Amino acid sequence: ALTIGIVGLPNVGKSTLFNALTRNQVLAANYPFATIEPNVGVVSLPDSRLDTLAEMFHSEKTIPAAVSFVDIAGIVRGASEGEGLGNQFLANIREADAICQVIRGFHDSDVVHVEGKVSPKDDIETINSELILADLQTVENALPRLEKEVKQKRTAPEVLATAQKAAEILGEGRTLYSATHDSGFDGAPIKELSLMSAKPFLYVYNVDDEVLGDEAQMQQLRELVSPVEAIFLDAKFEAELVDLEPEEAKEMLESTGQDEPGLDQLARVGFDTLGLQTYLTAGPKESRAWTIHKGDTAPQAAGVIHTDFQKGFIKAEIVSFDELVDAGGMAEAKSRGKVRMEGKDYVMADGDVVEFRFNV
Ligand code: GDP
Repeated sequence: ALTIGIVGLPNVGKSTLFNALTRNQVLAANYPFATIEPNVGVVSLPDSRLDTLAEMFHSEKTIPAAVSFVDIAGIVRGASEGEGLGNQFLANIREADAICQVIRGFHDSDVVHVEGKVSPKDDIETINSELILADLQTVENALPRLEKEVKQKRTAPEVLATAQKAAEILGEGRTLYSATHDSGFDGAPIKELSLMSAKPFLYVYNVDDEVLGDEAQMQQLRELVSPVEAIFLDAKFEAELVDLEPEEAKEMLESTGQDEPGLDQLARVGFDTLGLQTYLTAGPKESRAWTIHKGDTAPQAAGVIHTDFQKGFIKAEIVSFDELVDAGGMAEAKSRGKVRMEGKDYVMADGDVVEFRFNV
């Protein structure tokens, strides 16, 4: 499964947030790996369409898509030089598919800030520069080898050119991800270098509840990381919420004026950052959301359920969720001609309700 690595300076609330993610009991039964791996936490992607389908198909249960997060040991200034848990940190982060930086925005004189003051801007720069320095080392180590390989025609010149471009961007103190956003840098040719600053990023501001109600303050903090997405939550509060019964949690949330738990937002933005989308299946046993990459074809989508579905794929019977709801049921959707037969080149759309036909 794709995972998002959680990073941040010490004492910003990573463990608190991570506890909320792992105590999210609802999910434990459906996503057993979450309880096996102590450093993996899972959060489900909220999807009200599943409830609609469950009602229509009299499903016994619903199974939402989920996003998993890996707890990565704290980063400190100097991590790229092996300071503290540096090297282990770098190894873990290379394995993550995206990076979520938790930034301290809360004020509490009892909780020491490792750099002496609460300053989101400085914290972001500290982490960025560690990632950039580590990447620069990796690229500079690789350059002589790549030059040699290109001379020997064992590596495409494009790989070397991309590595040189990456070194230039990193040398300017920019992340490769931001260069992708700002100037269309394409790091695909040097994927094998697993550069960390090229991974998709998202930011979580761990803030006091007065910030959560203050759009102007949030906007300022958003601008610090723009165009990268930021979400806002109170980690301590989130950790309390997951321990409550759903009804209680709902009341508690309403009493603070929030529409939805921060973990839900985290799931949504995390999902999007990873470039994922869902399609749906429905039946008496379960209504379920399945995770695929944006742009996946019907056979690839079938493969997420079972590899045999992909191998033996014949066609997919597909109706869009909205048209199914409009029709009020599958039979009526069919008689209206809204249920399409799609072949192996069909590119899945978000909200497709699907039944696969396959050979076994
Ligand atoms: P980590 O080092 O980043 O994993 O940080 P922790 O999760 O261990 O949090 C450090 C300290 O800050 C703990 O005492 C937490 O209880 C406290 N803390 C975490 N989140 C919040 C928050 O949103 N508000 C306040 N006031 N304290 C928090």
